[in-house]
Amino acid sequence: MVALDNARVVGEVEAVTSCDLLLTGAELVATVDADRREINGGWVAIGDGLVAAVGGPGDAPPEASEVLRAEGCLVTPGLINTHHHIYQNLTRAYRPAVNGSLFEWLTTLYPQWARLDEEAAYVSAWIGLAELALGGCTTTTDHLYVHPRHGGDLITAEITAARELGLRFHPTRGSMSLSEKDGGLPPDSVVQDDEEILADSERLVAQHHDPAWGAMVRVALAPCSPFSVTSGLMRATAELAERLDVRLHTHLAEDPDEDTFADKAFGMRTIDHFEAVGWMTDRSWVAHCIYPNAGEIARLGAAGVGVAHCPSSNMMIGGGGMAPVHELRAAGAPVGLGCDGSASTDCASMWLEARGALLLGRMRKGPQSMGARDALEIATRGSAGCLGREGELGVLATGAAGDLVCWPLEGIPFAGALSDPVEAWLRCGPVAARHTVVAGQVVVRDGRLAAPGEEDMLRRHRAISARIQAM
Ligand SMILES: [Zn+2]
Repeated sequence: MVALDNARVVGEVEAVTSCDLLLTGAELVATVDADRREINGGWVAIGDGLVAAVGGPGDAPPEASEVLRAEGCLVTPGLINTHHHIYQNLTRAYRPAVNGSLFEWLTTLYPQWARLDEEAAYVSAWIGLAELALGGCTTTTDHLYVHPRHGGDLITAEITAARELGLRFHPTRGSMSLSEKDGGLPPDSVVQDDEEILADSERLVAQHHDPAWGAMVRVALAPCSPFSVTSGLMRATAELAERLDVRLHTHLAEDPDEDTFADKAFGMRTIDHFEAVGWMTDRSWVAHCIYPNAGEIARLGAAGVGVAHCPSSNMMIGGGGMAPVHELRAAGAPVGLGCDGSASTDCASMWLEARGALLLGRMRKGPQSMGARDALEIATRGSAGCLGREGELGVLATGAAGDLVCWPLEGIPFAGALSDPVEAWLRCGPVAARHTVVAGQVVVRDGRLAAPGEEDMLRRHRAISARIQAM
């Protein structure tokens, strides 16, 4: 219920007379809008799921059906997670795999993941999405690339969990088609043939994808990686995405082993192969992209390929590789943030990833190269760019999605941080969300999930994890 008087078009505070939710009392509202406005004592009004108005202490806020107080808080747009494998929270910190290389870690875990079914996908998604919401994430992608035979409709199961919790969700239909016997990495039990993958991708888009402004569910297509799918599937998926007008996602240049593999399998570097199969377009966003050379960075930027930067994952994989975030952004590539995992980094806090981006950026290029505002921008506007939703997500501006987070900058961790709440947000802490709001709905209130059933869901998660991890 909202009286907007075309406020989305006009963009005037005074045009809004009532709204559904008014967030007020904040110490600072960092809008991350086109002018990067930061409003001391600001407020945000949300109606019909969209931001109806943003104002300061001098502006009279509209009447609201519900008022949410944010004293002592920094308010930011909701953080957007552009890369994740939620089902992997069923095998977090799995002892036999923790010290392996990327390829060793994967081959250890594929047999466990082959036990996935609808119940496991639903419960792991519920827990994983809840963890993200508690950490200030309002939109997340998920890259589910293991579809065991007879496993059921795993992605629809995940979408059910997202709807229950109220998160904005971009599941990607992952796939693997190149098994060990054909020179790939995964075992036969978790790969599918190209026709089956493409048909199921098309079915999921028809069933769930919503292209409308403010959509809660969008589906993207996501062959797993160069070493687990055929070139033919990469090409056919790009063509299907074009026809259905959906986005493309995959892993790219995550590990030096990948170039060795690509050289042997395709006779070229992995990013050359990515281009050769029709993916070098602004429809694509890729995870990691740690090892592009200077020429490849320029090509990725010129094409507008998005990059999901996953700081904790970069460090956990080890070997010293760090995504060239500074250079990719300078080249024009939208760079967003991802928590990856769950079993590679085991923790899904977008605050932690934003802090990781801050630290890794400064470690690579010095203190001038990355501040908390850059990290916030990557986690919001940059991530929205990866998802093709610039101006709609990741910004607190009239007409954008009503997604925001209240971060309490209080207590011992923030004592003495008086002069810059945005820098304090990432330099101090750790901090989680006090309130997380998605489309004007409060999904985390006072640090607790609004949806019921957390204890029951944790019990179910434990039982499923034990089944999947059984030797
Ligand atoms: Zn990944």
